[in-house]
Amino acid sequence: MNDRSLAVVLIPLLILALFVFPPTSTFAESEEIKHVILIVLDGVRPDTLVAANTPNIDNLVAGGSYTWNAVTVTPSITIAAIPSIFTGATPAVHKVTDWDGEIYAETIIEVFEEAGLSTAIIGQDPILGGYSATYCTGFYYHHEQYEYFTTIAINWFTQHRPFFLTIYDSVPDHIAHEYGEQSDEYREAIEDADFQIGRIMNMLRELGVYERTLIVITTDHGMTGLSHGSTLPGDMRIFSIFKGPRVMKGFEMENVVFTPDLGYAGHSIIDIAPTITVLAGLRTPANSEGRVIYQIFAENNPILASVNRTEAVGAPGDNLHYMLTITNMTNEPDNFRIEITSEKGWAVEFFPYKLMLEPGKSGNVMVHVSIPDLKKSDGDTLLARIVGTEASTELEFNAIGKPLETASEVPLLLPVAAAVFLCGVISALVYYRSRKGGLTSR
Ligand SMILES: [Zn+2]
Repeated sequence: MNDRSLAVVLIPLLILALFVFPPTSTFAESEEIKHVILIVLDGVRPDTLVAANTPNIDNLVAGGSYTWNAVTVTPSITIAAIPSIFTGATPAVHKVTDWDGEIYAETIIEVFEEAGLSTAIIGQDPILGGYSATYCTGFYYHHEQYEYFTTIAINWFTQHRPFFLTIYDSVPDHIAHEYGEQSDEYREAIEDADFQIGRIMNMLRELGVYERTLIVITTDHGMTGLSHGSTLPGDMRIFSIFKGPRVMKGFEMENVVFTPDLGYAGHSIIDIAPTITVLAGLRTPANSEGRVIYQIFAENNPILASVNRTEAVGAPGDNLHYMLTITNMTNEPDNFRIEITSEKGWAVEFFPYKLMLEPGKSGNVMVHVSIPDLKKSDGDTLLARIVGTEASTELEFNAIGKPLETASEVPLLLPVAAAVFLCGVISALVYYRSRKGGLTSR
């Protein structure tokens, strides 16, 4: 069977399958996320945090998913790492080197605002999506800084109930630069941060939305002695906590990514943004290079999957290649199947059609898409579905075809080329005759 006849047989079958097995909602309405609060602490070492007296953070850890061994980007400095938290992009992609400069990657703020969800950025720079946000205070120094901005955050949230609110605490970083990461002052700064976090949690409880709010707490980098910025574990190692609807309780993220600096780590800092937006039921930020941390999703009997690229571009006749990674297939192999369809009926081949996976193990599905003969620039959306008896997951990715020169343009080119050639011959003749005339008259 050649490619074309395979496609002729497969595509109607796949379209039929879409009707027979319509997409199902992956989570109950009672588990819907009503608000997202992202708290970024600057320069907090996970080991110091664990040793400090932080009852509010401990409470979130017990009720959520967490790691003390995630990894930040290089260089391990604030201006590189915080844009990575907000975009899921590495510094090479977001290119932020100046807080008054530009950011070259889409932030989670823009993803929320695009979906019609209001956002507020408290005590943080507008470069992180603040120009699109519903409200942004900007960053500035103030006496009792974190208490001051926490009060603004509580007032704004209580009055306007934004879907997304982020707040930033720069104090632990300043204290560590001054006193060192072994100092009591540094530990106390982290305990102060915990106190302010407790004020925000109390606000959520008083408003009756604590159980319906996704709370994410993380830091941008660690600290070694009086500074940071290197690839030393003390600088590279960060923590994260995710607590809220759809998130597993009391789950420690371990060995999710491999990094040259830390070996196996909980996850990368660039995984935070896509995980937040997907938990909120939205798409990942456009330039995100991170992976969704599906391991923390609490849905029963989950099939977890990700696609290694969301978009590929090629000319007609090209084959585009994608890889789907499917993990934690907890169903019996006979009870699920993989379906990959093209919105416009492009030929999609994938292999294997059925993965034989032990529960908890992962495997790859190779996807090949051949771009058809296009008359004009066009793209296609591919939809992958892994459907089982108890769960299903969907992945969307794009194939974009760039046009070759179309047949209608070629006849136009020929007369133009002929005219140019003829003009050249005529002007050469005229020149030759006038030159000859010039010579005879002298
Ligand atoms: Zn610093």
